[in-house]
Amino acid sequence: AERASAAEWNGVGETADGEPVKVVANVGSNADASAAAAAGAQGVGLFRTEFCYLAADDEPGVETQRAAYHEVLAPFAGKPVVVRTLDAGADKPLAFLDMGDEPNPALGVRGLRVAFDRPEVLDRQLTAIAGAAADSGAEVSVMAPMVATAAEAAWFAERVRAAGLSRAGVMIEIPAAALSAREILAAVDFVSIGTNDLAQYVFAADRMAGALAELNDPWQPALLRLIEMIGRAGRELGKPVGVCGEAASDPLLAGVLAGLGATSLSMAAAAVPAVGAALAEHPMATFQKAAEAALAAADPAKAREAVKSILAH
Ligand code: PEP
Ligand code: MG
Repeated sequence: AERASAAEWNGVGETADGEPVKVVANVGSNADASAAAAAGAQGVGLFRTEFCYLAADDEPGVETQRAAYHEVLAPFAGKPVVVRTLDAGADKPLAFLDMGDEPNPALGVRGLRVAFDRPEVLDRQLTAIAGAAADSGAEVSVMAPMVATAAEAAWFAERVRAAGLSRAGVMIEIPAAALSAREILAAVDFVSIGTNDLAQYVFAADRMAGALAELNDPWQPALLRLIEMIGRAGRELGKPVGVCGEAASDPLLAGVLAGLGATSLSMAAAAVPAVGAALAEHPMATFQKAAEAALAAADPAKAREAVKSILAH
């Protein structure tokens, strides 16, 4: 079959036999969002709201937050946008949510855990997001970072709905959450897999440590096996399972993730056309075959090799 090049991608995320796999973008600013829209992203799969406040000393007021979120949502009026609530801590510290000295910040009070101590900060952010959603006309969903249990997911979903937002989801980036995917999906409308942190916690390997990059390789079969579990839970419950970590930006891995059950892939704008084109190259059955080969591989290099040979023809 004739290969579609990235330049020729038609902007509709789907496999060659028409199975939809949404190709969406990771953004943290209006500039990112504009670049993502220009690259043909079908929406936003991860808006990292903490990126708006890396330099803020104090919590921004609701109206200030509303305006900041509106700027990022505006290029996606009428399109789906997943807004992640503040993911402060470890590699993304926020001065106004400083948890003090922790011996292991990556295992500390971070992400949604901050909101258990200070729910009013979360509620103010949700109010601002609801306002920005109304202002922009984007189809906004909200998701929480660093969720470990179904009870945490249910707690978050209740607050999202109380703020007048209709779609609540959570990130799956802690191994316990992956192992509880079915129970978590029962409590929320969707999940999105954060492969950067999921790899870090599965392999006990700091994502910032260059020396451990091999363990953090998204082609690690052990990581793919967890993703497969989550994908299966999504199919069983009929709910969307996205991938929004770096893994989703690799065009060769994109088909594998689709074969494992991902219903959307979210990545940096620059990767959007190549991933869209890669998904269009083969039918879902071929991606499922590639996924099976990757799951059965002994290591990342062998997984890549096996998938390459299946997708080469
Ligand atoms: C992830 O952990 O994979 C993710 C998408 O979130 P972040 O990189 O912002 O931690
Ligand atoms: Mg993360």
